[in-house]
Amino acid sequence: MLKQSPTPVSPDLRRPGLTFVSTLEPNLHLVSSVWVASCPSCGFQLATARTQQWVERRAARRRCPVCHLEA
Ligand SMILES: [Zn+2]
Repeated sequence: MLKQSPTPVSPDLRRPGLTFVSTLEPNLHLVSSVWVASCPSCGFQLATARTQQWVERRAARRRCPVCHLEA
């Protein structure tokens, strides 16, 4: 008997409608003393703040409108 290996789901393949993957963390950049959080997938700017802690908090509460289309 031939054993068929299951096709692994590509982590890059993300379809709308799937459960939000919370493991993806936003990219953080320090741009002229302002922290900028951007989407790890498309680079959309999610939030800005003066401190890294704040920008992480703000970005955690926001979903990328480009990758997570919500009507
Ligand atoms: Zn995005």
